[in-house]
Amino acid sequence: MYIGIDIGGMSIKAGVVNENGDILAKYAVPTPKNDNEAFLNAMLEGINKAIEEAGIQKTEIKAIGIGNPGVVDRDRGILLEATNIGFSDISAREFLQKEFGDIPVLVENDANCAALGEFYKAESTKNFIFITLGTGVGGGIIINGRLYLGTNGAAGELGHIVTHTNGRQCGCGRKGCWETYASVTGLIETTKEHRDEIKTLSPDEEISGRTVFELARKGDKDAERIRDMWIEEIAIGVVDMVNIFQPDQIIIGGAISKEGDTILLPIIDYVNKNAFCSERLTKPKIEISKIGGDAGIIGAALIYKNSL
Ligand SMILES: [Zn+2]
Repeated sequence: MYIGIDIGGMSIKAGVVNENGDILAKYAVPTPKNDNEAFLNAMLEGINKAIEEAGIQKTEIKAIGIGNPGVVDRDRGILLEATNIGFSDISAREFLQKEFGDIPVLVENDANCAALGEFYKAESTKNFIFITLGTGVGGGIIINGRLYLGTNGAAGELGHIVTHTNGRQCGCGRKGCWETYASVTGLIETTKEHRDEIKTLSPDEEISGRTVFELARKGDKDAERIRDMWIEEIAIGVVDMVNIFQPDQIIIGGAISKEGDTILLPIIDYVNKNAFCSERLTKPKIEISKIGGDAGIIGAALIYKNSL
């Protein structure tokens, strides 16, 4: 049995997970801000409640994994920092080993954990790419069944390939990164740029990532065109992933993945037309995440299993 922790800005989620990646119990506690000690105690409370709910003994826990929305020190088991939570240098391994004995406590970037979670729930896949569309574009790479970390453990920054020369300014310092177009932030930006063309959009309406999807469903052809422009921005990067990795499978996650086939089918069509592979070769399976929000817990729990 494993414990997986998914740290978010709003809550810390702890789960008891078995070898197959099934969650037996999970528990969420609010995330304390700017206070290392309160943070550790909240995390411990979440773990203990999840263990209690799963009806297992502490001694059955083989390893604990933590997914952090920020930088980690894997060697020393330290959460160095996390965006919007305001902690620094949390010695998670040292703290949890005092509570649970000398079991492995591993820390990892949260997007990598989500990739691992999706990987363990996917079918007969060894080479696998997970892409998550949110404020940015993130994800993770699995090669031959292992999370690929690269030097510095910094691999998998999928959103920072450039798809538009001299395009939008990216937070990373470059211009035209994939995530400045294919993220939900990118979609909102594109919708704003074209808002005058969307006839059913009232001038004072606030634009969100759902705006063009909702208006397109009501039959607005211009909203549909802008929605499809965004889907193509996603597909351009997906083709790059296919060309570089030829993975068995690509899974797309993030809040917008609720739109399902509306975004998935045009992406598959674009990949089939544009990916560099012979028509006689099997195409990678491209799917929308089925496990959604739980991928982070499952992946964190199974970091240790993946490292063996
Ligand atoms: Zn960038």
